[in-house]
Amino acid sequence: MTSSLFLSIIITILVLSYALEQFAQYLNLRYHPEELPTELEGIYDQEEYDKSNDYHRATTNFSFLTSSVSLIIFILVLLTGLLGRVDGWLANFITQPWLRGVVFLIVMFIINDILTIPFQWFKTFTIEERFGFNKTTPKLFFADKLKGWALTSLIGGVLIAALLLLVQFLGQNFWLYFWAIMTAFSLFMAMFFTDLLLPLFNKLNPLDEGELKTAITDYAIQEDFEIKNTLVMDGSKRSTKANAFFSGLGKQKKIVLYDTLVDTMDTEEIVAVMAHEVGHNKKRHIPLMMTMSIVQIGVILFLLSRMIFSVELSQALGSTQAVAAPHLNLIAFSLLFTPISLAIGFFTNWLSRKFEFEADAFASHTASKAGMANALKKLATKNLSNMVPHPFYVALHYDHPPVMERLKAIEKL
Ligand SMILES: [Zn+2]
Repeated sequence: MTSSLFLSIIITILVLSYALEQFAQYLNLRYHPEELPTELEGIYDQEEYDKSNDYHRATTNFSFLTSSVSLIIFILVLLTGLLGRVDGWLANFITQPWLRGVVFLIVMFIINDILTIPFQWFKTFTIEERFGFNKTTPKLFFADKLKGWALTSLIGGVLIAALLLLVQFLGQNFWLYFWAIMTAFSLFMAMFFTDLLLPLFNKLNPLDEGELKTAITDYAIQEDFEIKNTLVMDGSKRSTKANAFFSGLGKQKKIVLYDTLVDTMDTEEIVAVMAHEVGHNKKRHIPLMMTMSIVQIGVILFLLSRMIFSVELSQALGSTQAVAAPHLNLIAFSLLFTPISLAIGFFTNWLSRKFEFEADAFASHTASKAGMANALKKLATKNLSNMVPHPFYVALHYDHPPVMERLKAIEKL
């Protein structure tokens, strides 16, 4: 394939996926009625419902703006061959191809993020602020940014360096070795994310002794479920939105509750939320999802190994050199892969939604049906969730079923 054909395909994919996303958002925006639907009575009143619609409209319009601007900028970058030119310029200083690749990708990542700061700023301090979610201060915003850049450069840099070194010295077989590295890395992150990375951004304290702690321990004993720790995280320092999750594998499992969740829910509801997470564990959802993602990484790496040495692909991004630039091809490949990842996304979202129903059912049976239903209602109202999303939008983006569907399913149990 010639480089200009590659470039045309990449731009077509970019434009089509943008169009698909905007179409889905348009459908979604028009889907909810202005009047409060009867099935939402008791969850939202008309005023809260209006507010959730306003929030939804504001975030959708804003995402239309950001994705349009980034599409235009990105197409200009591609058409002018800017990426290849920057790479050619870097080659004057760094002769080792793998090292040049690492520097190039880290610099591109940071430049890209700097360009989006005005948008992130507006989202946090205007939209989230207007709807009463935002608790982030400008100082915290920039501290998060710097920490995020440092961490991504460090972890991403090491992984990219490993990948490009393998590519440079092993040739096409690199993918098998890098697959092993990525598998080890995924397992490591699943085990130690809460211990190593999360504390850099949040404070985690053990849950105080008391009624809630006792109820959680009792439930864990009842279900013969070993947890190492129950932690409360200061989510309220960034946002009023609430959440809870499990982390770790085997005997290292920890439950993390946002302080915003602990403050708004009663004991019965929090135990139900925890029971839901236990359900994911008992039903083996977590190892299954993990295995699927590891297989997926293997397939992606294999496909990558067929394209990463293509000189024409590098030239499509503006390279003027006679040899392939694997780091440029990495970017090109990720763009070419968009349609496949969209298809995979449809499937994994569907499976994940199915698992959510199963976990809700588990929590309803082993903890409390009313607790689970009330917890979902409170989460939805607190986060101003869109209660009536369009089915196509759900298929595209939702890894959790819409709250109304979950409530209906719980009712039927
Ligand atoms: Zn879940």
